Amino acid sequence: MSARVLSGKELAASIRSEATARAAELAAAGTPAKLAVVVATADESSAWYVRSIARAAEKSGIMCEIVDLGAAAEPALIRDRLASLSADDTVHGIILQTPLPQGARLEDLAGAIAFEKDVDGANPLSLGRLAAGLPAFAPATAEAVVAILDHHGIDLAGRHVAVVGRSTVVGKPAAHLLLDRNATVTVCHSRTRDLAAITSTADVVVAAVGRAGLITAEHVRPGAVVVDVGTNPTEDGGLVGDVDAVAVADRAGALTPVPGGVGPVTTALLLRHTVHAAQRHLP
Ligand code: NAP
Repeated sequence: MSARVLSGKELAASIRSEATARAAELAAAGTPAKLAVVVATADESSAWYVRSIARAAEKSGIMCEIVDLGAAAEPALIRDRLASLSADDTVHGIILQTPLPQGARLEDLAGAIAFEKDVDGANPLSLGRLAAGLPAFAPATAEAVVAILDHHGIDLAGRHVAVVGRSTVVGKPAAHLLLDRNATVTVCHSRTRDLAAITSTADVVVAAVGRAGLITAEHVRPGAVVVDVGTNPTEDGGLVGDVDAVAVADRAGALTPVPGGVGPVTTALLLRHTVHAAQRHLP
């Protein structure tokens, strides 16, 4: 058996093309959509990710400003820049890129991003509203997990989903979105005992950890669906997920690839959120 490949490329292209059309309408109306990405790290994989967002934005007709504050930026400086971008009427979407300098935490700083410009759902207000089932921009990666499953016709209602990872940006919001879709959700993390015993009972496994090869065949029930959120740089400049794709493909029913799965959908959703923010629409 070889798992069906749940590519994100086709879905990402369709979201980007819708964002491009809306960005053109906004530009014609004299309000070109603009995204600002605040960076305070020298991390190479982060720089690669930010450049890919900027390229995708520009291709869709969305302006993208990278605000690089340097890897030694103090939390106060980051907060001030987020506040000034929040007050700038020409900026519609704001992302605070991680990792952050020592002593700066996303959870502490993201409250300075105006809620209506919080296109990656990092402000605790967005996260709280998401948990309460109220309109807010969801963290794009968490939303991409559900979007890719929907796109490939995988029904979530009543199914057991094991989410591995409980970060504020991926695991926890993904768990909320999956619950909203009537899945039965188990959230696992580094202190979970016997991870494989839990994940191997799930219909769907979502791996969002950041450890190459963590999820092996023993973690997956035969025929299960596996969503690989992990992006781990390899020594030869490539990218691998958290799932041992070769071993798991022989056991799973379906598997998202890395690259080409959750990643492109995440970027496309950031563009969708930015044009929605420019149109003053929440989801
Ligand atoms: P993170 O903040 O480092 O969180 C990792 C989570 O994994 C934590 O909850 C941690 O548990 C858990 N964990 C660590 N080791 C574990 C183990 N051995 N068994 C079970 N759980 C374990 O990372 P993140 O920001 O959520 O990102 C996760 C991955 O997704 C990374 O590879 C990142 O690059 C990738 N990512 C991809 C996209 C995309 O667009 N594709 C976007 C964002 C992130 P504790 O809470 O107990 O520490």
